Amino acid sequence: MLKKLTKKKILDALGGVVHPKTGKDVVISGAIDDVAIADGVVHITLMIDPGTAEIMEGVRKNCDMAVSKLTGVKSVRTVMTAHSDGAGSPPAAKKQPQKSGFGHGRRPPPTPQALPGIKRILAIASGKGGVGKSTTSVNLAAAFSQLGWKVGVFDCDIYGPSIQCMLGPGGQPEQTKDKKIRPVERHGMKAISMGHLVPEGTATVWRGPMVIGAVQQLLGGVTWAQDGELDILVVDLPPGTGDAQLTLVQTVPLNGVVIVSTPQDIALIDAKKAHDMFTKTGTPILGMIENMSTFICPSCGERSDIFGHGGARKTAEENDIPFLGEIPLHLDIRTHSDDGTPIVIAKPDSDHAKAYLGIAKGLMEKMP
Ligand code: ADP
Repeated sequence: MLKKLTKKKILDALGGVVHPKTGKDVVISGAIDDVAIADGVVHITLMIDPGTAEIMEGVRKNCDMAVSKLTGVKSVRTVMTAHSDGAGSPPAAKKQPQKSGFGHGRRPPPTPQALPGIKRILAIASGKGGVGKSTTSVNLAAAFSQLGWKVGVFDCDIYGPSIQCMLGPGGQPEQTKDKKIRPVERHGMKAISMGHLVPEGTATVWRGPMVIGAVQQLLGGVTWAQDGELDILVVDLPPGTGDAQLTLVQTVPLNGVVIVSTPQDIALIDAKKAHDMFTKTGTPILGMIENMSTFICPSCGERSDIFGHGGARKTAEENDIPFLGEIPLHLDIRTHSDDGTPIVIAKPDSDHAKAYLGIAKGLMEKMP
């Protein structure tokens, strides 16, 4: 059995990284501000003196390297943060060197801060891509809107944004006088996506710190509530358990997360990973949706279970997660969301729209 990855093991590994100013290791030098672990993904915050970023870039890389060798580490991101009392000061000017070097008298880990003008934040997650998470996000958002809530949609998928297509482009977001971004307006909802802001493919080369910065900037720098308070911000997360997800849970308090999965085994295993990450970070899991649950032939209406059926419901029950409902695999769902008008808006009386509306009603009860 794999031994558990702990903060202590990470700090021990960081104990081998030398701080160029103090000549001692970065832990003893008090330069490690925070260590967070979620499902094998490690985030380290390295405190530096302003102006020393260039020298400290090597240290940052060494931290990444030292920790990536540990068993159980899937990825590691060390991010530099500048403080005037940072670790660039000689040790004599600092508090007592700490035995563990972490968490004693230093800044506490970031506390999520509510976003003004937004009553609720709901994240839509999946373990892997292509399971219909974005399709679910836009249709649930449209359903909330039809049920009377004022809705915003935030596409947090920095590497593969798709909300600008699924809701229709809606023009370029404008900048306000105080340098904030005005979200675009689509189908009566506010929306912002990386796809609105950077040319296609640009963000695919971004590294962790840039992704973290982009998510934080988009969360705090968008005038979501310019025309009145939003009842809900629906956040379409990237697939998996990486920087964007962790940044979101650390930056804003979430009312909950919904996990989308197809009924297949492989998608379910990945969905379980997403579930484990949110459990570890203390995010309420409001439930699981089985997408592409059963195939309905658009010509004859016959049902066939291409990807199996009922797998997500079973996984939800086994993990004590509420099961929220099933969405079939149907051509209409694909064509309408890919054309920029989700089926809930294009065909509000269809059975598919009713399935989304039913799930949205259930979620509204869970987020009074
Ligand atoms: P993800 O966000 O998980 O990567 P998307 O929402 O982008 O997945 O969906 C991938 C593709 O599958 C899109 O072309 C979308 O239109 C299609 N799709 C998603 N859900 C359904 C469904 N229930 N029926 C038919 N097509 C679907």
